Amino acid sequence: MRIDVLTLFPDMFTSVLGCSILKRAADPELHQAKAQGSCDPPVSYHLTDIRDFANDKHNKVDKPPYGGGPGMVIQCQPVYDAVINTEALDPRPATRILMTPQGRTLDQKLVQELAAMPRLLIIAGHYEGIDERVIEKLDPMEISIGDYVLSGGELPAMILIDSVVRLQAGVLGDETSADFESFSPGAEGLLDCAHYTRPSEWMDMKVPDILLSGNHGKIDTWRHEQSRKRTQLRRPDLLKESE
Ligand code: SAM
Repeated sequence: MRIDVLTLFPDMFTSVLGCSILKRAADPELHQAKAQGSCDPPVSYHLTDIRDFANDKHNKVDKPPYGGGPGMVIQCQPVYDAVINTEALDPRPATRILMTPQGRTLDQKLVQELAAMPRLLIIAGHYEGIDERVIEKLDPMEISIGDYVLSGGELPAMILIDSVVRLQAGVLGDETSADFESFSPGAEGLLDCAHYTRPSEWMDMKVPDILLSGNHGKIDTWRHEQSRKRTQLRRPDLLKESE
């Protein structure tokens, strides 16, 4: 999968994309070593600075809003040129995404849909947002990470990228580990059960006996029950959805 991000602040992505699972997912050397056919890593990241497409001699891409009011609005032309130029860099069709608090809320179902795409092109807004006319012209999928407002679309874009990349084949160490997490098909859309590790007793608190029994059939049944109980307690709405 190719992931393009169009932003005014590409530096914000350096540490997030350069660490841990997101870094490994795009590391050609690591995947070459493990390769069984293709040696391409599961993902590649490409950051485009919208400012590089400014027509303004000071590289400014924002102007005050028509009609007055606070803040600045990102202009149409640099965003449009950045999208068209970036798309032309690769023949794979890009799913255009605009991060906005006014979009469809990101959930695991949407993450799974996006994870199946060959290429995502994510536009991160800033200030008061982006001139509405270029949004109409580009017609992106509008995605929100929740009902609150952040200063920019960079953090939302990183959240979306992380959620999608960990579902790519070969990214997580244990191939099935994403299948049984909260909201996933393997967990029937419910919350994950509680997890424990060594020591078996800590501050007078014991790990449930069943987990030490070695009986994997019974452990699976127990985990499933725990998952249902937890969901009933914390997110009963998910139980209704799974019925
Ligand atoms: N004026 C906009 C409104 O009230 O709907 C908010 C603009 S916000 C300050 C600036 C940018 O941050 C947005 O263009 C968007 O890209 C990003 N953003 C803020 N909150 C977001 C959220 N919950 N989900 C996705 N993107 C968000």
